[in-house]
Amino acid sequence: MSVPVVAIVGRPNVGKSSLFNWLAGRRIAIVDPTAGVTRDRVSTLIKANDRFFELIDTGGMGAQDVDNLTVQVERQIEAAMEQAHVVLFVVDARNGLMPLDEEVARRLRYVDKPVICVANKCDSPELENQTGEFYKLGRGKLVHVSAHQNRGRDELLELIHERLPQAEEADTNVAVSMKLAIVGRRNIRFERDGKVFIAIDTAGVRRKGSISSDIEFYSMARAERSVRRADVVLLFLDPRVRISKVDKQLADYVLEHHKPAVFVVNKWDLMVPMPTGKMGNYIRATFPNLDYVPIAFITAKDGKNVQGLLNLSQNLQKQASTRVGTGDLNRVLRLAVSQNPPPMRQNRRPKVFYGTQVGANPPTIVLFANDPELFDNTYQRYLLKTFRDNLPFNDVPIKLHLRRRSREDQEPVEPAAPPPKKKKPAVDLSGLKFQSTVSEDEIEREAGHYESELWKDL
Ligand code: GDP
Repeated sequence: MSVPVVAIVGRPNVGKSSLFNWLAGRRIAIVDPTAGVTRDRVSTLIKANDRFFELIDTGGMGAQDVDNLTVQVERQIEAAMEQAHVVLFVVDARNGLMPLDEEVARRLRYVDKPVICVANKCDSPELENQTGEFYKLGRGKLVHVSAHQNRGRDELLELIHERLPQAEEADTNVAVSMKLAIVGRRNIRFERDGKVFIAIDTAGVRRKGSISSDIEFYSMARAERSVRRADVVLLFLDPRVRISKVDKQLADYVLEHHKPAVFVVNKWDLMVPMPTGKMGNYIRATFPNLDYVPIAFITAKDGKNVQGLLNLSQNLQKQASTRVGTGDLNRVLRLAVSQNPPPMRQNRRPKVFYGTQVGANPPTIVLFANDPELFDNTYQRYLLKTFRDNLPFNDVPIKLHLRRRSREDQEPVEPAAPPPKKKKPAVDLSGLKFQSTVSEDEIEREAGHYESELWKDL
């Protein structure tokens, strides 16, 4: 089951990001959006009673268009509809009801999810008496909170908890079928004997340096939407031309959304006798943060390797839905930490006590630590790589959350002698190194080197 998602929506300035930070209960870093590290600013994991949920601030997602508030609201609602199990509709108790609040309420009427109306900025009990007009929004009971004064937190968490889907209900992603998104160049067709044999969501993206025109914006938006909905994304690359900015943007989007993916080099028949390794090196150098994404070489026109690609995609979907036991996870974690202890920061030693997988699709791991702020992105990437290499998540992204250990988060008691597992891969971390952040310039240089070699011999 994936972790249930709770989305915050509301017009600007009602205090969405303040509410987000307050519920998260910690200082939120505006973090580096690269690599498989969760973008804390817009998404964090929170515990309500015995359940974890993922809180997302839809207002912090994507580009902010200050001139077009309706478009902003539209986007928030769309994100909430697609991803959320529960919606927090935030209004401002101090400023009172505004036309844009009514607009949000109107749009929310079409959202088939539980909505909780949160009157924020109730800094004192008197302010609660002024919120009567919000009942007009038709959301029933209001919950009064103040992110600044720390009021109403328990009540809000309780309401959220009551509305989270039952564990089985949330599990709609059972692997009966697979939603594939095919993104990349236009005119991608899978054919055999002249027949299109797989129904696909083709989202053509024109190749151009910028995506300024409307058409390009909308084709990008379509491609992004298919990525969000997909179980597995096939990122098509044309080996006859250099990898474009749009390809890179799509790849970043896939990374941010933790989607299993395959780089698909199509029209490979035109390139033989180029060795696949050459193209492979170019792809790896261009997308260093997606080093776990497999590369497939196919000729879609006559179906060459297409079955293999579909099998691979199914395998990725399976990996992403896998759950590992706490015992296995902690064995790998302990080894990772003992071989490469996290470096001291601000004279303090970062400590991680234990970890647990709280969800699948994407595999979501929570690590309980003395202070999450002490673990930088480089170290988180190292842990992610170790998990991928030693757990059955070899080719898929993992979402990692670090939480401060509270008193109720006690380490689960492990069975005295874990039952022996058959053919368990030996944990060997000797070859692992820290992978430091690679700069854009370095990526350009490295990719340029492979690129200049690429078409030389043809
Ligand atoms: P967003 O645009 O909806 O994400 O709103 P922000 O979180 O950026 O907050 C907008 C403004 O409201 C900021 O100046 C906050 O300091 C203020 N604010 C947020 N929560 C509260 C609150 O509980 N009480 C008061 N008085 N102000 C708040």
